[in-house]
Amino acid sequence: MDYKARLQRARTALVEKRLDALVVTHLPNIRYLCGFSGSAGALVLTGRNSIFFTDGRYTEQAHQEVLAATIRIRKGKSALAAATEWLGRQASLRRIGIDGLHLTIAERNVLAKSLPRDAKLVEAPPLIEQLRMVKDIDEVAKIRAACHLGVDLFKRVVKVVRPGVRESELAGALEFEARRANVDQMAFPTIVAAGPRSALPHGRASGAPVPPRGFVMFDFGVILAGYCSDMTRTVHVSRAQAEATRVYEAVREAQQAALERVKPGVAVGEVDRAARKALKNSSLGKFFTHSTGHGLGLEIHEAPRVAAGQDEPLRPGMVITIEPGVYLPGRYGVRIEDTVVVTETGCEVLTPCSKQLVTI
Ligand code: ZN
Ligand code: ZN
Repeated sequence: MDYKARLQRARTALVEKRLDALVVTHLPNIRYLCGFSGSAGALVLTGRNSIFFTDGRYTEQAHQEVLAATIRIRKGKSALAAATEWLGRQASLRRIGIDGLHLTIAERNVLAKSLPRDAKLVEAPPLIEQLRMVKDIDEVAKIRAACHLGVDLFKRVVKVVRPGVRESELAGALEFEARRANVDQMAFPTIVAAGPRSALPHGRASGAPVPPRGFVMFDFGVILAGYCSDMTRTVHVSRAQAEATRVYEAVREAQQAALERVKPGVAVGEVDRAARKALKNSSLGKFFTHSTGHGLGLEIHEAPRVAAGQDEPLRPGMVITIEPGVYLPGRYGVRIEDTVVVTETGCEVLTPCSKQLVTI
């Protein structure tokens, strides 16, 4: 990972926003900029300096991971308190950017108390999130590896689906295999939703058994070497009746229509619109109750949102999910989700796994 280049891009963004400094406190932003993967730290950027602050627990880890920024460790002080102390001594800094999305009011007050007299805190736009939106080659490789592992895990777990097996057992089997494959952790609580529970868009695995007939939805992600995967497949136990097959095929076509819309220059809202239009044509539009997708990377939900009205243009290197779904309350639901990376001409599906209706 080229942290020096990232820090340089962040500094350019500071200058554009007329900020003398930026206090980065959101851990994924810190990891992106300087490589630190621990759970406590603060990074201060100025026109000349990149200084990473952490506490005594992370002395060794910081020296292993943070090579492009200066490391400051103040024993017995939190990272933010140490950063504050340092900022308090920099008389030349006037406009100090903070991240309003991630800093608590208490933390803001700590910072405000010790600033030099002429300095003021400014709520900065999400500058680092903007940089993170377009992935570099190393990041795409890591996300691809995480997604390919996800496909592999799905293929294994689908073999143990049968009536009577509890959702939690299926989630457990999947997560056990993920651990064996050295994931850092799951990217979010694994969704396994069988029968009528598949109508819950976020049906976390429960103790409910797989019924003798119906859909089973799997939506899960791993974090491998810091980067997330995300995919959803919905399979059917016993032969699907005509209506269920029709709903499945409608979702599959909507997902395909959205995938085909992905290419540089197209607004993300257009991708959402393609999925929505396809489901409307199948008279299922009103059962598609969420947005079409989201960016992912170090976090499972990142910019851009692939949703109605969003005008962010797609650029090569953006990684997004395409996940339309249809949910018939009390009956069943179907969702199909792929993670893709935008290429020069379209996209590469990072979760290559059949989307034909699988009957178990
Ligand atoms: Zn998902
Ligand atoms: Zn997703």
